[in-house]
Amino acid sequence: MASTDRRAQLAGNLGEVRERIARACSAAGRSVDEVTLVAITKTYPASDVVLLTSLGVTDVGENKDQDAGPKAAEVRAAGATPRWHFVGQLQRNKARSVVRYADVVESVDSVRLAAALAKAAADLREEPLDVLIQASLDDSPGRGGAHGDALWEVVDAVASAPSLRLGGLMAVAPIGISPDVAFSSLRELSGRLVAQHPSASAVSAGMSGDLEEAIRHGATHVRIGTSLLGMRNSLR
Ligand SMILES: *Cc1c(COP(=O)(O)O)cnc(C)c1O
Repeated sequence: MASTDRRAQLAGNLGEVRERIARACSAAGRSVDEVTLVAITKTYPASDVVLLTSLGVTDVGENKDQDAGPKAAEVRAAGATPRWHFVGQLQRNKARSVVRYADVVESVDSVRLAAALAKAAADLREEPLDVLIQASLDDSPGRGGAHGDALWEVVDAVASAPSLRLGGLMAVAPIGISPDVAFSSLRELSGRLVAQHPSASAVSAGMSGDLEEAIRHGATHVRIGTSLLGMRNSLR
């Protein structure tokens, strides 16, 4: 049966990814318990999310609201309850949709987006929404993220909103910079953030190609798509 094959394939990939995480943790002198695997399931169906949760994956991530909303509903209907991370660039007019299913929004990179999420979460949620601030590790626009003073303005906006809970930082290693250099600057930013906000210690960094470097530099969350689910055939 096709879904049996898919389950075996996902189980094999998951074993390899967990092995990479374990080796990276051991090389860094860290415990594997310090690193949460977030399976990035964008472009893959709800059935894959259900299979991954049955294999022990607790956290999943999506980057487009129009796909994530229906997928989260399908997964819930199938009886699975992963923690949903939103990791994509988000328009303010999608805030009211995202706060209904997301447990964490990792990609908050402007004061205006923080304000829209704060309002939506206050209106529509009982519990505060967990938020990570996306840092841009170079100052080129494009993949999202706030840089320099703008980053600290977003931090202040999130920290002062009662309906949001500041959890830490997220970043994508910029093209053209070595992941080691990028993630070491992320670690420095995290140190400054935690000095101001001791509970905001999450560092979401590392994807299929650079999870080892991310773990070496203190990542608490790695966001893995391709190595778990396979190559995506679109550029998203
Ligand atoms: C797609 C995506 C990932 C996963 O990337 P892979 O290289 O497929 O592991 C991680 N983070 C974000 C923000 C993404 O959009």
